[in-house]
Amino acid sequence: MENTKEMRKWLDDLNLGHPLVIAGPCSAETEEQVLGIAHSLKDTDVSYYRAGIWKPRTRPGNFEGVGALGLKWLQKVKDETGMKTATEVANRAHVELALEHDIDLLWIGARSTVSPFIVQEIADALEGTDKVVLIKNPVNPDLSLWLGAVERLSTANIKKLGVIHRGFSTYEKTKYRNIPEWQLAIDLQTRFPDLPIINDPSHITGKRDMIFDVSQTALDLNFDGLMIETHHDPDNAWSDAAQQVTPKTLVQIMKDLIIRKESDSEAEYNAKLSNLRAQIDIFDHQLIETLGKRMKVSDSIGALKKQKNVAVLQSNRWNQILGAMILEGESKGLSEEFILKMFKAIHQESINHQEKIINAEI
Ligand code: PEP
Ligand code: MN
Repeated sequence: MENTKEMRKWLDDLNLGHPLVIAGPCSAETEEQVLGIAHSLKDTDVSYYRAGIWKPRTRPGNFEGVGALGLKWLQKVKDETGMKTATEVANRAHVELALEHDIDLLWIGARSTVSPFIVQEIADALEGTDKVVLIKNPVNPDLSLWLGAVERLSTANIKKLGVIHRGFSTYEKTKYRNIPEWQLAIDLQTRFPDLPIINDPSHITGKRDMIFDVSQTALDLNFDGLMIETHHDPDNAWSDAAQQVTPKTLVQIMKDLIIRKESDSEAEYNAKLSNLRAQIDIFDHQLIETLGKRMKVSDSIGALKKQKNVAVLQSNRWNQILGAMILEGESKGLSEEFILKMFKAIHQESINHQEKIINAEI
C-alpha cells in the first residue's frame, strides 16, 4: 500500500488543534430532528455531522432508515450550519446517491467491512473520489479483513482515508455492546502509523454513561478523533436509544476529556506515558477477566469432584501444570520465581473455591 502520510493530509489540513469530532444522530428520523440537532452542534468542536440514512439492522422489522430523502436534509444542514456531512454507504446505489447529494464523508459500516465483495463494489463506485472515506472495523476481530478493506480503497485511488474502531461482536455477555479489543486497533496503528484512526465509543459501549471513559482511553492511545452519536431526545431515538447523548452532554464530554499534546518534551513524555499506561490498563482488565473465567471452570471441576467424592488436591495434575507454565513463561521472558509465585496464588484461590463447593450443604 502506498505511503499512508498522504492519507492523513485531509485531517492535517483541517488544522483543528483538538481531536476530530464526528457527531449527530444514529439515524436521520425527520427533517426537524436532523436540522434541530445540527443547529445545537453548530458552534462546537464538531467538524462532521453524521446521520444514518440507510440503517443496517440485525433483525428485520426495525426502523431501516428514511433513505435518499434524508440526504436532502443533510444538504440543508451543510447550507444552514456550515458543518460538513457524513453518512454510511453499503452498496453502489448508496454511493451514487451520497455523491449526488455532495456528502463530504462516507463510511463503510462494520457489517459491510466483513464482505470483500461489498467493499470492492463500494471501492469501484468511489474510484478516484476526493471525499473522505472511513472504514469501520469488521464485526469480527480480524485485522486482515480491516486492512484488506483499506487496501481495496487505496487501490481505487481514494486519497482521503481513515478507519473507525467500533468494537467487535461476541456471543459472550460483557459490559460492552461490542468489545473494544484495543490491541487490534493498536496493531493497526503500528502497521500504518499515519492512517487516521477514529474511535466510536457509542457502538463500543452501547450505553451513554460509559462513553466518556472509552473516549479517554482512545485519546490516551493517540486516536485522532471520536464519532459520538448525538440526539436531542436520546431515549426516544428510533435506533440506538441507550447509547446516544444530548448535544449538551457531548459538549461536556469534549470539555472534560484530557487531550495530551506532543508539543514540548514534557508534554511528549506525558503523552507517551499515558499511552503506555492505557495499554497496561487494558492488559490488567484482561488478566482479571481471564482469572475470573478460570475460577468459573475451577468451580465446575469442584462440583464434579463433589459428585464423585474425590479430593480437591490432585498433586500430579498440579505438578504437570506448573512444569508446563514455567517453560512457557521462560519463552516470554518471565522468571521461574515469578511463575511459581503467581501460579501458587492462583492455585490457592482455586482450592478455596473448590473447598467451598465441596463443603457446601447440598
Ligand atoms: C452506525 O454508525 O450507526 C452503525 C450502524 O455502526 P456500525 O456499522 O458500527 O454498527
Ligand atoms: Mn447507531
